Parts: sequence; structure tokens; C-alpha cells
Amino acid sequence: MTDVYATIRERMIQEQLLPRGIDDRLTLKAMRDVPRHVFVDDAMWGRAYGDYPLPIAAGQTISQPFIVAYMTQALGLAGTERVLEIGTGSGYQAAVLSRICDKVFTVERVHTLLASARRLFDKLRYYNIVAKLDDGTLGWPENGPYDAIVVTAGGPVIPAPLVDQLADGGRLIMPVGDQSIQKLQLLIKREEAIEITDLESVRFVNLIGEHGWSR
Ligand code: SAH
Repeated sequence: MTDVYATIRERMIQEQLLPRGIDDRLTLKAMRDVPRHVFVDDAMWGRAYGDYPLPIAAGQTISQPFIVAYMTQALGLAGTERVLEIGTGSGYQAAVLSRICDKVFTVERVHTLLASARRLFDKLRYYNIVAKLDDGTLGWPENGPYDAIVVTAGGPVIPAPLVDQLADGGRLIMPVGDQSIQKLQLLIKREEAIEITDLESVRFVNLIGEHGWSR
């Protein structure tokens, strides 16, 4: 039996990712492998591979496929890394990362989202993802330092604890701005200095916590 969703995913790659500069082999492979539709409500399966974000529970959203691929590619992963994600949400971004790196640590502040993401990781046998309920703006110090960190909610600044928990040479990507529009910032931590580059303009839901917004 052919997997109809595999065909739709291939079209997503051809139409949304390749023409916009996603060319990293590992990123493309992960986007091909992970069944995005299972991370959204059954009623939205038909729209799961569209070129837009979709609502998930608790008023949150799963990012557009291109943004997930773009953020993943920007981390420049080779396959051996330990990666921290803040904002598990549906679990889709963590799932994509888990197909590329050695281990994914992901933090979510909404219990219902965390519980459903964990169920999916188990069901898909993505055993190299560990998830916890907490304020992710504090990071997850016990398992650091991380080779890469991805924050999938928008905040006013890059939380200092995350920079502390990033390894030398590590990369962090996060939407930084006000509550309506942000710029993806790529931070590279070098021994001598921290380098920050502004990338695409994006709209993410709020990063809420001690080093984020208050609501
Ligand atoms: N990566 C997710 C996108 C989820 S939207 C996916 O692939 O589906 C952003 C998520 O960040 C929301 O689920 C929101 O609850 C969560 N969030 C916001 N502030 C947070 C914080 N301080 N710590 C952890 N999670 C947070």
C-alpha cells in the first residue's frame, strides 16, 4: 500500500522547501520522514501539509513547514548533537530535530500540549526525545551544555540562561521582537564573542516566562 501522506510530503518539499533555499540533506530527509499530519487534529489532516501554520490546542500554533525547515537548517546539524527546544507545542519541530541529531530535550509550559506530544513521540518510537513541563526561558540546566538551541515562541530578548547553556561554537535560533512581529535571530557562541544575525521576519505565539513576556 502506498502512503498517500508520503506523496503529499514529497510535494511539500518540491513546492515549499526546495524553491526557497532549503537544501540541507539532513533537514530535507527529516521533513520527508516525519508524518506532520499526526501532530494536528484529525479534522485538519487534509490541510496538514499546506504552506501555513495551523492551530493546535491551548490557543497555540504549529509553524508553517518552511519555517520548521528553515530553523532546523539554520542550526547546521551534522547528526551527533544534543539539542534543546523551548516550546514543544504539538511536538512536530522536536520530531524533525530528533531524526537529525543524537538527542532532543524539549520544554513546554502547557501540560495538555506536553502530554499529547509525549504520546506521539512514543507512538512514533522517537525514543531520543525527552520532554518536560517547565518555564523554558530558564532552559534545562541539568542536561546542558547543548550544541544547538531552538526557541519556537517569540520573546523580547534571547533569555540569558539559554546562552549560558549553549556550548562553545553552538547555535541558537529564536524569534525576537514585540508581540505581533519578530525577526528570527541566529546566535553563534564563540569563545571570543557572541555573534547575532537577523534573518527572516516571522510571527510566533508569545514566549511566556521569567525571561519572556508576562502573559
Ligand atoms: N514547536 C512547536 C510550536 C509550538 S507554538 C510545534 O512544532 O508545534 C509555541 C509553544 O511554546 C506553545 O506550545 C507554548 O505553550 C510554548 N511556550 C511559550 N512559552 C514557553 C515557555 N516559557 N516555556 C516552554 N514553552 C513555552
